[in-house]
Amino acid sequence: MAIATVNPATGETVRTFEELGEAELEQKIALADERWRTYRTTGFEERAACMYAAADLFEKEADLAAELMSTEMGKTLAAARNEALKCAHGMRYYAEHAAGFLADEPLADPSRVGATRALGRYQPLGPVLAVMPWNFPMWQVMRFAAPALMAGNVGLLKHASNVPQCALYLESVFLRAGFPEGCFQTLLVSSRRVESILRDPRVVAATLTGSEPAGRSVAAICGDEVKHTVLELGGSDPFVVMPSADLERAAATAVDARVQNNGQSCIAAKRFIVHTDVYDAFTEKFVSRMRDLRVGDPFEASTDVGPVATEQGRADIEELVADAVAAGASVLCGGRRLDGPGWFYPPTVIADITPGMRIYLEEVFGPVASLYRAADIDHALEMANATDFGLGSNAWTNDEAEQERFIADLEAGQVFINGKTVSYPELPFGGIKRSGYGRELAAHGIREFCNLKTVWIG
Ligand code: NAP
Repeated sequence: MAIATVNPATGETVRTFEELGEAELEQKIALADERWRTYRTTGFEERAACMYAAADLFEKEADLAAELMSTEMGKTLAAARNEALKCAHGMRYYAEHAAGFLADEPLADPSRVGATRALGRYQPLGPVLAVMPWNFPMWQVMRFAAPALMAGNVGLLKHASNVPQCALYLESVFLRAGFPEGCFQTLLVSSRRVESILRDPRVVAATLTGSEPAGRSVAAICGDEVKHTVLELGGSDPFVVMPSADLERAAATAVDARVQNNGQSCIAAKRFIVHTDVYDAFTEKFVSRMRDLRVGDPFEASTDVGPVATEQGRADIEELVADAVAAGASVLCGGRRLDGPGWFYPPTVIADITPGMRIYLEEVFGPVASLYRAADIDHALEMANATDFGLGSNAWTNDEAEQERFIADLEAGQVFINGKTVSYPELPFGGIKRSGYGRELAAHGIREFCNLKTVWIG
């Protein structure tokens, strides 16, 4: 894919970018390596001062950052603005907590190991490559960058090819905030160049957020090089509704959980599994709300759902829906692309899905909800877990025993009861199964790219 800003609301190519040449790439990796050797010796206070300044810039420039995001990938301006503010919050969170998260961990009784003092110490690893997706073009990067920089690592960003202006903006924020040159650099390169960067001995680890094939490729190369990776991949999160749930709230949250970010979120609820006793009532509320959403220009304040980010992305959605319909699924609303320019696809609800359909197993990366009827809690759990993914999960019930059952038995990295899955800096984030491994955010996220060095003093 060419590196370019293509407005998904119009299909127009707004700006194209030259890929970095080999010599420029070499310079940037060399700078990262050199910078890390001094940056690693800085203290938390110094790093935090820059991180707070970066957060201030984000907040001050939230409108500009939002405009870049909406232009490049089509999320509504309001959602984009919230994303910019969330970045500022995440940066402040790590500026405040990094020193505590990475404090020495002394052994209470060192004599047990024959030492006068023994402890675990977190040290930075070096330059880390971050391969990032376009769907949350700033927040996904920040989830890596804020903890990595606070830990004393330096970052190299290979962003998705359709969000180059967001990528360059992020680099400029860190520079203007006072981080020394080379602490965070954007590499405008295609995914073909990722392998050579990963194999460079100066690049010590990698994190990838994106699709399963991309994750598999990065993990295979890093496995070969014996380099640590964190993978945040796709999801097909279940949203289970049981009879004791508040159906009005569940239906409203279900809509939001499905169409957030124009339906293109890894933790969007994608499969709605509803107990048969409340199936009809929930479906009526859910479908009517989905039908009422306004699809349109992401820059219009009245728009609820903007376009799909890429032409291919919309074609993928259409293929999955067509496959299901051909095999007997019913379309309760939407189901047909909107006429005119841009890659618009309406909020859609599909029912009568059977296991042979692709939509049963695959992630739909757009505003399409799948509805399933469950006979009881065992059946609901069986369907919820009938996926190769295991990222987020949601269950709606006011019965405490059922809540405990969902917490125990949903196969996922996260479970939200009576709510929708959200990434908070304060909580660990990540998946199991084919949704990836490792954790971002909270204390766990900052420790991923550290050497926990055992120190023993006799
Ligand atoms: P993608 O095609 O995998 O792209 C993600 C990033 O990987 C881009 O920078 C892309 O670069 C790069 N890439 C693609 N193929 C690669 C390869 N073979 N080797 C190295 N790098 C490669 O994914 P996407 O379509 O942009 O994003 C959607 C997917 O991301 C969905 O499955 C979604 O669920 C997942 N996601 C997961 C999380 C999470 O936290 N778990 C969060 C957001 C999204 P180019 O653009 O240059 O191809």
